[in-house]
Amino acid sequence: MPNLRTSVTLLLLLAAQVSFLAPGLSYELLLTLSGYLAINFMSITMLLATRPARLESLLGGLDSMYQLHKWTGILAAIFALTHWLIEMADDGLEALFGSDRSLKEAHFSGLLDSLQDGAEDLGEPGLYLLLFLVVITLTRWVPYYYWRYLHRVIPLIYLVLAVHAMLLAPLKWWQQPTGWLMALLIVGGTVASLQSLTGQIGRNRRYKGLVQAVKQTSANITEVVCDMGRRWPGHQAGQFALVTFDRIEGAHPFSLAGADNDSGQLIFHIKALGDFTRKIPRKLHSGQTVTLEGPYGRFDPDNGRKNAQQIWVAGGIGITPFLAALESRLINSDQKHAAVKLHYCTAGAVDDPMLTRLQQLTEQLPDVSLYIHDSLRGQRLTANKLQIHDSRVDVWFCGPQGLAKALRSALKQQSISLRFHQEVFEFR
Ligand SMILES: Cc1cc2nc3c(=O)[nH]c(=O)nc-3n(C[C@H](O)[C@H](O)[C@H](O)COP(=O)(O)OP(=O)(O)OC[C@H]3O[C@@H](n4cnc5c(N)ncnc54)[C@H](O)[C@@H]3O)c2cc1C
Repeated sequence: MPNLRTSVTLLLLLAAQVSFLAPGLSYELLLTLSGYLAINFMSITMLLATRPARLESLLGGLDSMYQLHKWTGILAAIFALTHWLIEMADDGLEALFGSDRSLKEAHFSGLLDSLQDGAEDLGEPGLYLLLFLVVITLTRWVPYYYWRYLHRVIPLIYLVLAVHAMLLAPLKWWQQPTGWLMALLIVGGTVASLQSLTGQIGRNRRYKGLVQAVKQTSANITEVVCDMGRRWPGHQAGQFALVTFDRIEGAHPFSLAGADNDSGQLIFHIKALGDFTRKIPRKLHSGQTVTLEGPYGRFDPDNGRKNAQQIWVAGGIGITPFLAALESRLINSDQKHAAVKLHYCTAGAVDDPMLTRLQQLTEQLPDVSLYIHDSLRGQRLTANKLQIHDSRVDVWFCGPQGLAKALRSALKQQSISLRFHQEVFEFR
């Protein structure tokens, strides 16, 4: 789990900042270290919420960036809770570890003193609200549609807790990199919070267009073509966009299911997987305005290692990024492409509209061998059906989490150098 690994690395770096500067373990060190980690992880979480374009390549795409956002958010909540528990157990911990007056908060007078008292009082209710919002995010009790409005309250809580941290931090921190780093992250987190509260996040990557065609291609898949004209900045195969068909409903991520051919026409294949997507065939009609934010994502199935066998695995609607990659190969047929074994898992090949398109494309691409696994005919894809014949293998996967897990763990048993790239069709 790269995102957890990244979070832990951040954790160690931040913790070292405080621990090395303290003479020894004390109640105050425990209190300030936990507070320091909590507010810094909250700041990093807020910064990641702004979908920073510059970090997307580094973090492997927006879907991975959101996974890191989730983990830094979880760590922030854990340290905030620890900070509160340490504060609750102050007498016991002071008796156990002693006290370090140099880590006490600064003594202000006048306005700053009353602000400091206010910030201290706001710490606890801020924590309760934060924990409540983190728990409902992780438990998914609340449907996505309502959850995303609740999630927007977090920047407000962050601003309160940032003031709490700034006013209660030990004075001596402000003469050391510890305080400077915290201040820098809080400035970043504050800007990110204000951007979120004013709806600025992603605004400079939004493009308006028109829905050109809506066609139901099967009982639960709808093909939507959007005309973005010259406004669309172009996209790589495998990327997705945050698509807003209805402002109240908000944006949903859908893969750009066609390669960029400079026509400004973008195609999406949308499966009825939930409340909104079930309504699309009825609600959406041509001529309606649409807003696209993006493109996002760094899932590029044609970006495999040289001299490694390339295996593409798509489950159901997870075929969409691969349709774009196949089209892109056709458009760039003058370029050399690696041979690919494309495994497509479907539940009923007979009426699967994706299969028709897939066969049309792969028939024109001799480097791509297509394998269909139809669960209705009892054909289930397992690692030994992937037809691996090389010691270096790149797997590009988009589909159900369970299948990804099964294939990844089985492949890890084999003595091969494996790179398993996965596009996650889930943000939360
Ligand atoms: C990177 C990416 C690419 C995707 N590409 C496609 C595609 O090409 N075709 C396709 O059919 N589906 C695609 N999806 C899935 C699609 O976004 C969800 O199925 C859709 O948002 C569900 O909305 P709903 O209201 O119908 O579902 P709900 O019943 O509200 O939710 C079902 C699940 O969908 C997710 N979801 C719901 N609303 C949103 C939202 N606004 N933003 C993010 N996730 C949400 C939630 O995790 C939720 O658990 C993709 C998802 C991601 C993350």
